[in-house]
Amino acid sequence: MMNEARFQIFSGVNTNIWNDVWIPSCESGPVKTLLPIPPQAPQLVQELMDKQNHTWKLDSISTFINNDILQSIRCIPISHSSRPDRLVWPWNSSGSYTVKSGYHRFHARQNTDIASHNHSSHVVSEGVWKTIWKVETLPKIKLFLWRALSGSISTRLALFKRKIAKDPICPICEGFEESVEHILFLCPWTQLVWFGSDLSYKVDPRRISTFDRWFEGIISIPGTSRTDGKFLLSFLSFLCWEIWKARCKFVFNGVSPDPRHVITHARDACSEYLAVISKVDARGSLSPVHQVQGTRWSKPSPSYVKLNLDLPPYW
Ligand SMILES: [Zn+2]
Repeated sequence: MMNEARFQIFSGVNTNIWNDVWIPSCESGPVKTLLPIPPQAPQLVQELMDKQNHTWKLDSISTFINNDILQSIRCIPISHSSRPDRLVWPWNSSGSYTVKSGYHRFHARQNTDIASHNHSSHVVSEGVWKTIWKVETLPKIKLFLWRALSGSISTRLALFKRKIAKDPICPICEGFEESVEHILFLCPWTQLVWFGSDLSYKVDPRRISTFDRWFEGIISIPGTSRTDGKFLLSFLSFLCWEIWKARCKFVFNGVSPDPRHVITHARDACSEYLAVISKVDARGSLSPVHQVQGTRWSKPSPSYVKLNLDLPPYW
């Protein structure tokens, strides 16, 4: 993800024109040149600055890069400051990397061609399996994720292939085949869940290929601290679980899924679970507890015993 960070230019003394990411219009890497760069060409951004007149001197590089990029450079204000240039994360307003902005950036840069993969044509990576067993979540949710990744939950598509269902169509939207990916991400009501969640994730159907590849992308977001990464995975696991439960309640009980309820249940269950395991950890060493933004969970009174039961088991 370091390729996604960018230098904010102040003095220009520590940013290389050709190798560093610093031009706003070059989002995904160093500037692409029209010709090989000779050794005598300017190397540092400061060599392009006329600090007295606060203008750019771009004649010396104008033959190597196109006009759009030159124009983009001219739009960078020349600072009065002599401080070194600063590496910033440009995908949110603060310039600091956050899990949420990294997550969105990851999805924004995924290629649309991954949509051509299908579930049976590849092997789930070992890293994904290992991560599943480390996710801080309920054992039944781990099992659900494992089954979803291995293609063994009873979707309409899976049942149709086994000649158990008469058609593979999603019973909720009735518009598409009901695969794991359709249930968890692509069904229109599910997309509302993701967008309405604390992640504000706008699902792009062209960028969802298979559940394991999506999951692999999540666990490979670099720059995510261990604590934030663990929290993100916990929350995602609860969200997927609540989506699956809501889908099953529709299939077996005829209850229409409500995205708001799913989000609230996932938040509450995740916060509650993390609070419980934090208390367990506190006997040895205290681990931080992340409260999901907007959670309404409150500590039960000492005389109160709370049991969370999920009935029936849907597989
Ligand atoms: Zn659907």
